[in-house]
Parts: sequence; C-alpha cells; structure tokens
Amino acid sequence: TEKLHIVGGGMAGSEAAWQAAEKGVHVVLHEMRPKVKTFAHRTEMFGEMVCSNSFRSDDDEQNAVGLLHWEMRAADSLIMTSANTHRLPAGGALAVDRDPFAETITQKLKSHPNVEVSYEEVTELPDQGQWIFATGPLTSEALGAAIQKETGADRLAFFDAIAPIVYAESIDMSVAWMQSRYDKGETEEERKAYLNCPMTKDQYEAFIDALLAADKTEFHDGETAGYFDGCLPIEVMAERGRETLRHGPMKPVGLTNPHKPEEKAYAVVQLRRDNALGTLFNIVGFQTKMKYGAQTAVFKMIPGLEDAFFARLGGIHRNTFLNSPTLLDDQMRLKSKPNIRFAGQVTGVEGYVESASMGLLAGRMAAAEILGAELPVVPQDSAHGALIHHITGGAEAKTFQPMNVNFGLFRPVDGLKGGRRGRKDRYKAYTDRAKSVWSEWLSGQ
Ligand code: FAD
Repeated sequence: TEKLHIVGGGMAGSEAAWQAAEKGVHVVLHEMRPKVKTFAHRTEMFGEMVCSNSFRSDDDEQNAVGLLHWEMRAADSLIMTSANTHRLPAGGALAVDRDPFAETITQKLKSHPNVEVSYEEVTELPDQGQWIFATGPLTSEALGAAIQKETGADRLAFFDAIAPIVYAESIDMSVAWMQSRYDKGETEEERKAYLNCPMTKDQYEAFIDALLAADKTEFHDGETAGYFDGCLPIEVMAERGRETLRHGPMKPVGLTNPHKPEEKAYAVVQLRRDNALGTLFNIVGFQTKMKYGAQTAVFKMIPGLEDAFFARLGGIHRNTFLNSPTLLDDQMRLKSKPNIRFAGQVTGVEGYVESASMGLLAGRMAAAEILGAELPVVPQDSAHGALIHHITGGAEAKTFQPMNVNFGLFRPVDGLKGGRRGRKDRYKAYTDRAKSVWSEWLSGQ
C-alpha cells in the first residue's frame, strides 16, 4: 500500500503517526529537529512539551478538555497512554514528567515496525503521495512561504491576536443589548449582530486605570512582536492616551441603549458572535498581553460582564495557523490539493491536547483513505467532533482565531435548564452524550 508521509513530530504528528501505523499503514515521519531548531523546542525528541507540563483538567464529566482525554484514551492514543505512564501528582490536572514522556513517545514510534523516521525539513507541499502536515505554531519559515504560495498570503497567519471569548449565557442582558453600529445590515439578524455593553464616564476612567495597572506577560525570546495595525493589545492602546480606546474599539457612536434610551453612553464595549451556534461571543478588539488573572478582574468591570464566564482569555503569540474554515474540507484535506491534510495547532486549534486530538483524527482519516476503508463521519456531539466541526465549518472564517476545546462548541442538549445554575447538569449531559457517540464511532471502524 501507499506510504503516509507525516511532517512534524510534535503532539499532532506523533499521534497521527501512531494511529496510522497501528492501522497497518507504513508511515514516514519527517522532523526538522535537530537540524533546524525552533525558539521553543530544546530537544530532538518527538512529543516535546514546549512550555507547561500540563494537559489541563482530567475531569471527563465536567470539563471539555478532560472529555477529550477520555475520548483519546478510548482511541488508544499514544499521547494519552504515555501521559498516564509518566503522570505526576497535580490534583485534578493531568501533569507529566516531560522528558521521560517524550522519550517514551520517541521510543514507541521509532521501534514501531510501520514507522520510518526521516530527520529533515520539508519545504514544499508535494503534488504526489499522501501527506499530513503537523508542523505546529512554529512551522519553519520555508514551509510557511510554500503554504502561503498555495493558499494566498492572507490565509496563513504568523501571530494570533486572541480577544477574550465569553459564554453568551453568562452575559447580563438587562444591561447589554443587541445592535449593529448605525443598524447596518440587510437582515434583522445582521442589524443585531453585535452585543453592546455601555459605560459611564466614571466606569470608563476606572477601566482605563485598571488596564494600565494590570500585570502583563512579556514576549518570549525570539518571539519579537512586530505589532501590526489592527492588532495592538488594548493596554498598549490605552498607554497611548486615555481617550484612544474611546475613539477606537470602544467608541459609543451609532448605538442606542434600549434600557436607557435617554442616556448617551460614554463608551461601549462590543462583542461579536464567535460561532454559528451563537453560544460564544468575542470582545471586539480586546486582544491583550495581560496575565489571565488580571484579564478576568479587568473584564468583569465591564457593565453586563460582571458574572461573565470565559471560554478563553485573550493573548498574542507567535502562532502559524491556517484559515481552516475556508481552506480545509471536513476530512482536514486542503481543498486545493486533497493529497495534503493538516493537523494540530496549524489548523487553528490551541493547546497540546487539542493538537494531539486533531492528529489522532487526521491519522485515522489518512489511513482509511489509503486502505480504501470507509471512515464514518466524526460525530459532531463528541469533543473531537465539536472541534473539527468548529475549525472546518462552524467558526466565522473572517475573524477566525485559534480555539481550545470548550462546551460552547457543543450543540445544546434539549430539555435542560440554561444559565449558570443548570451548568453542572448540562456539562454532564454533554459528556455523557459525547462518550456514547464517540464509542459508537470507534466501534464502527
Ligand atoms: P508542535 O508540537 O510544535 O510540533 C510541530 C513539529 O513540527 C515540531 O517538532 C517542529 O520541529 C516540526 N516542524 C516544523 N516545521 C517543519 C518542517 N518544515 N519540516 C519538518 N518538521 C517541521 N500549549 C499548551 O497546551 N500549553 C502550553 O503551556 C503551551 N505553551 C506554549 C508556548 C510556546 C512558546 C508556544 C510556541 C506554544 C505553546 N503551546 C502550549 C502550544 C503548543 O505548542 C501546541 O499546542 C502543541 O505543541 C502543538 O502541537 P503540534 O503538533 O501542532 O505542534
């Protein structure tokens, strides 16, 4: 049978190689380290964790990433089995002893009869053969250029600028309201596409003070920012002048507060729908380098967001990723070159676990294609399904930014109480449903 070429021996590439090899497909794993280095990797091992040693929560009933762990374990994931072997005590989190963890992954892949390793940088998207590119947030420069040539320069980003994302259900709608600036839009839906949070002068001044005083993270060495227009962190805008935000992302014009029609807001924070389900909203223009604790404190000062629950907080990082909603099909193949799949963080998921899970799917999909087997569609109600559906179809293509797994990506379960109070039952219902459809999917292969 045809060989499967996998580029990148990180979280996603290692998992993809394992999954395909275990299905009986011959895999060639191409890794540029140690010949070509990145600023974050230290070793030449596969599955190296570049920063924290945690795979986050291991709670598979109340946490979406814990659910992803569960699904990966059920699918014989190399990353998860190795993590279990080298687990460190960390409360409810799955933390690992990183070097032995990576050694196990390297050794298991190198000794697998179906895996061949090639230490070289791949700099082209080949026309022939079956390929998975899992080159991660620090994809090499030459390959980045080749991808841009194929997809168009504006379809591959080199930085993410992530605005915080809030669960819609946690926003106080007795304070906030839906309206597009100047009621722009052809349809009623478009005229009400934004969610607005009003501020008085005092609230604005206090907010600016808090922004300026907040703890911020520095860029990593080698990660030099080269901020570009439209992507300045809000705190940097605030440093340029106390009024800058009020004339930028927080300008109050073209909006009328139906709760207080006679009162003109001094500033308005706008949130935009972040997924087709309408369960998630991002705060427009609020990319930031504030530390996570500071972000929650500062953003909860926004009227209407006092009890906000965040699906993810903001950030700006060196991160190479595709505009997957426009470029990839539901099998993670490049639409313009279907012999090529992408997997891992380069597809616009975020985090070790999410990246490995997308490797797991890509490995199985490519193996099935090579073996001529029919792989049933990944069920949307599983955590894997929710993620792949988001990146290949559910997310807004225009504002696409990397996403970690969270319950906001899941379709609602009928007949359950909404709001904060019903959350525990709802999460249990999501995870029960996911486990059942995922098990069924696996047993059909
Ligand atoms: P990687 O694990 O990065 O693997 C990609 C592999 O491809 C690398 O081995 C690289 O050498 C190789 N490669 C690249 N280009 C080529 C090429 N042209 N030819 C051959 N090989 C190539 N996530 C977390 O969950 N927690 C964290 O604390 C965290 N901290 C981070 C800190 C930094 C500085 C960065 C950059 C990222 C961080 N991330 C973190 C994100 C994390 O890197 C990813 O979630 C995860 O490693 C992505 O897995 P991946 O397989 O997609 O990419």
